[in-house]
Amino acid sequence: MAKVIVIGSGFAGHTAALYLGDALGKKHEITVVNKLENFSYIPSWVWVGVDQMKPGKTVFPLAPVYKKKRINFVHAEVQTVYPEQKQIEALRRDGSDEIVRLDYDYLLIATGPHLNFAGTEGLGPHNNGNSHSICTLPHVIQTRDTYLQLVDEMKAGKSKRMVFGTGHPGATCQGAAFEYITNVHKDLLRRGIRDKAELVWVSNEADVGDFGVDGITVYRGKETLSSKEFISAVFDDYGIEYHVQKGVKKVDGKALYWEDYEGQDGGMDYDFAMLIPQFTGVKFNYVGQNGEDLYDKVANPAGFIKVDGKYGQSYDDMIKDPESWPAVYQNPDYPEIFAAGIAFAPPGPISRPHKNPNGMLIAAAPPRTGMVSGVIGRVVAKNIISMIQTGKLANQERMTEMVAACIASMGNSLWDGSAATMVLYPVVPDHSRFPDTKGRDPFVTDMEMGLSGAWMKRLIHSTMIHKAKSRPGWKIIPE
Ligand SMILES: Cc1cc2nc3c(=O)[nH]c(=O)nc-3n(C[C@H](O)[C@H](O)[C@H](O)COP(=O)(O)OP(=O)(O)OC[C@H]3O[C@@H](n4cnc5c(N)ncnc54)[C@H](O)[C@@H]3O)c2cc1C
Repeated sequence: MAKVIVIGSGFAGHTAALYLGDALGKKHEITVVNKLENFSYIPSWVWVGVDQMKPGKTVFPLAPVYKKKRINFVHAEVQTVYPEQKQIEALRRDGSDEIVRLDYDYLLIATGPHLNFAGTEGLGPHNNGNSHSICTLPHVIQTRDTYLQLVDEMKAGKSKRMVFGTGHPGATCQGAAFEYITNVHKDLLRRGIRDKAELVWVSNEADVGDFGVDGITVYRGKETLSSKEFISAVFDDYGIEYHVQKGVKKVDGKALYWEDYEGQDGGMDYDFAMLIPQFTGVKFNYVGQNGEDLYDKVANPAGFIKVDGKYGQSYDDMIKDPESWPAVYQNPDYPEIFAAGIAFAPPGPISRPHKNPNGMLIAAAPPRTGMVSGVIGRVVAKNIISMIQTGKLANQERMTEMVAACIASMGNSLWDGSAATMVLYPVVPDHSRFPDTKGRDPFVTDMEMGLSGAWMKRLIHSTMIHKAKSRPGWKIIPE
């Protein structure tokens, strides 16, 4: 009987756990260790943040789902991995504070991001912090409450400046911040107070519409449409002021401060700021048989797990080599350790990084969105299943071979909502296969705006929760 442990039950880990439980649950021991007792459907938090969805609609308890699939669930926070003894150590978060030590034959690390608010002076919602976040459920509830206070003040006639974007020169997840600002715009319109708010976008992207994926271009006959043109048209249409190429370095509750691509200092006052922090990996201790430190073999300095990517290449070399992106997400030193979702170390950024004359690296980090994380979780699960059943790896999928769809809603109404839908193939441009179309397949890559996207986003909320609950037909619903 093989023992498989999955650490983290988000898009990557939970998807992997369902496939593992389904294929192996009867004969082998599958255990999920997760810090939280609930699964979170994170994409709908943009609606929680404007009080258009109740927080409870975005979460459900994991234990009953795992019971159905014969998966053990341990509500605990992993702190140490012993790669040589093939064990993990975790602190129970069920109130007992007990330390548990568990054995594994295969380990999947899918812990998502560590939200590095400390990487930017003054950033974050903690300790009466100076900025808001939508990256955890408690954060988004706090953000919603502040937003609703501001709404009351605007209804009483006051004007407010609200800033949205990235709070670190190397932040990622611009898509979530974009979706939140457009939802705030829509919500303020609905409440009849849009004229009282100045909405401002500040980000580290190389250009508007870059989203950390080097933007996209759509080809329609002889016409082309770039995401820069598309998103700047949305901002212009919605009356949103925008600033890109900014590395935010300090937030003090009244103002934020940045350096730009040229090394110039700048900033602005605000009444409300929702800024995404830098994402690092969740750092564990990696300890050898005799207590030696094995950290460098498993993780990079930022805490992301080293897998089968080609690390250390320059950006220019990396973008010429689609195989620099990992295929099976397996650690080279410890082949029984895999990583999926945000936890794996990418070989570098997708968008061109920029160092300003003061040495500040302003570089949108590569997003590993929910869909990409789920696909990677499935690939890893299928490989672990295959290793157990045949001793061989059977699947591979690089981000240079993966399709992704991103739908940024603008309100969640099925009557007057709208959404910007972007389909990218591949997620990471492959310039060797598509040399004339900026590395992407022109027949698949697309951008649309309209009510149908709003319907799709609402439908995806329900179908993804259906899938995550492993209800009938879950396997045929794509990640
Ligand atoms: C507001 C918002 C909106 C978004 N909208 C979209 C969208 O529309 N579409 C899209 O594709 N993506 C979207 N994303 C991105 C998407 O949520 C992430 O890409 C995705 O969650 C990454 O999946 P993951 O499994 O790697 O990490 P996560 O989903 O973060 O899961 C990691 C899990 O690991 C657990 N964990 C962490 N540390 C430990 C530990 N030490 N021990 C045990 N467990 C641990 C965590 O509790 C968590 O359950 C959005 C993100 C945000 C913040």
